[in-house]
Amino acid sequence: MMRGSSTTISEPPADCARCPRLAAFRAQNRVAFPGFHNAPVPSCGTGAPRLLVVGLAPALKGANRTGVPFVGDRSGLWLRDGLARVALGDAVCRITNAVRCVPPANRPTAAEVAACRPFLAAELSGPVPMRAVLALGRVAHDATLAALGLPHRPRPFTHGVEHALPGGAVLVDCYHPSPQNTHTGRLTRDMFDAVLERVREIVG
Ligand code: SF4
Repeated sequence: MMRGSSTTISEPPADCARCPRLAAFRAQNRVAFPGFHNAPVPSCGTGAPRLLVVGLAPALKGANRTGVPFVGDRSGLWLRDGLARVALGDAVCRITNAVRCVPPANRPTAAEVAACRPFLAAELSGPVPMRAVLALGRVAHDATLAALGLPHRPRPFTHGVEHALPGGAVLVDCYHPSPQNTHTGRLTRDMFDAVLERVREIVG
């Protein structure tokens, strides 16, 4: 599809050590929160998505707790309620993160985003007629372009803007539905729904 024709979507091992800082944080969290997932959070949804949603990284008490992207916190509720409102369900949608391990203060470093890039690249080279990639925030946007081998400078992150990708898919930008954005009004429900409605049109 977009790149290559792999039929395998690879995931990192539970003790992936490519990011020493995140591996150390994971070890701390296994002690502090023994009931949590505390491992790289695998993507979820169909293995042949027409829409790939790319977030930033698991939140400590959200996806790092539940082990499912965008499940267990307010960002997840926003996303999943929004997808349900436009009837984009698991049959067509897959959800992943640019960085699969929870970073301290929700802030991965550039090196950590780069280290996790092969796993995002594998998602983007799936067996699919993928039509849209929804990037939630600038880090997800830049990581997606980098995973596709495309420079981001000609395609800067801009909420609501669409970028054509090789192979005919479209990258759609949206502010991340984090409480910092939704509580401040930077991302309103109407803004979010407008982006999701457009994604729904693209996906068909
Ligand atoms: S963020 Fe990705 S590359 Fe880094 S340790 Fe976790 S799974 Fe491995």
